Amino acid sequence: MIDLLIKNGKLINGTVVDIAIENGKIVDVKESITEEASDVLELNKKQYVSAGWIDDHVHCYEKMDLYYDYPDEIGVKAGVTSIIDAGTTGAENIYDFYETAKEARTNVYAMLNISKWGIVEQDELADLEKIQEKLAKKAVEDLSDFIVGIKARMSKTVIGDNGITPLKLAKKIQEENKHIPLMVHIGSAPPELDETLSYLSKGDIVTHCFNGKSNGILDQGINKIKPFARDAYEKGIIFDVGHGTASFNFHVAEVALKEGIKASSISTDIYYTNRTEGPVYDFATTMEKMHVIGYSWEEIIEKVTAAPAANFRLENKGQLKKGYDADLTIFTIEEKEKDLVDSDGNHRQTKEKIQPLKAIVGGNIYEVDL
Ligand SMILES: [Zn+2]
Repeated sequence: MIDLLIKNGKLINGTVVDIAIENGKIVDVKESITEEASDVLELNKKQYVSAGWIDDHVHCYEKMDLYYDYPDEIGVKAGVTSIIDAGTTGAENIYDFYETAKEARTNVYAMLNISKWGIVEQDELADLEKIQEKLAKKAVEDLSDFIVGIKARMSKTVIGDNGITPLKLAKKIQEENKHIPLMVHIGSAPPELDETLSYLSKGDIVTHCFNGKSNGILDQGINKIKPFARDAYEKGIIFDVGHGTASFNFHVAEVALKEGIKASSISTDIYYTNRTEGPVYDFATTMEKMHVIGYSWEEIIEKVTAAPAANFRLENKGQLKKGYDADLTIFTIEEKEKDLVDSDGNHRQTKEKIQPLKAIVGGNIYEVDL
């Protein structure tokens, strides 16, 4: 007897399937499963099911003052089964974050901030003494199941007078730690974006890729994507949305799409304030924004499941396949008018709303509560 049988779930491509779950794993996905189950979830060919949504840029260490949130508020309660904290903590405080995060029902992972106390202050990379390679290496080794990447915030308010140096150190830390992914936050200069991108390699992740700042990927004078940004994209540097309070602009994302440049992964950069007061609110709203500018639902689902799982090497996650973890999101897509606003106060009206209903983590069902 299996633990949970999901009946008649609609995949985003329209196919209807049954899914069998046992011991926290997906054991079968096919047109019809008739085996007996302790629990049956009937979706009536109306509700969608996908691999569990993964938000790869959040802030969820609740003990911080600047950027903090509670894992389950942005996780299972929002239909999100896995979240990756993007460098809220560094080598000194990530151990405590790990202990706190273990209590959550949501799967929580973290990128290690190269600054040893993480984002305790806005300018965590202004003092190079805070970048301790040995401490970083120890943390990555000690918490190898928790730390899935390294984070460096490379923008004016963060780096002080240090220019590109913190990024060079971040690359060094990455090289000494099995080349786990490096996520770089971009924003206002210094450093100039072309310099930042020149240090990145294939598989590195640029978050806030569609920010509306003059140091972003769009040449605002001629309304085209800057050639060096296109080169970086074509080289295999991963573009991640990282919406945030100040880092998502509809127009930049639209021009990029028109020029064939798409985000690989969609993420929120959510924390308490931009969740409760906007403009982020929740993961589904960020997905609606990508849809209203022209991404199909099918590719959006891929960009919140398989893509982040691959980018951060989360084995057994991101796919609805036999042998994968039983992390799933149940949702509907309905015709409904909704006003969407980006980080710069620009609006778009969508007619399609994506509504998560349940998050299933390791076979356990949690009701969405948005
Ligand atoms: Zn962030």
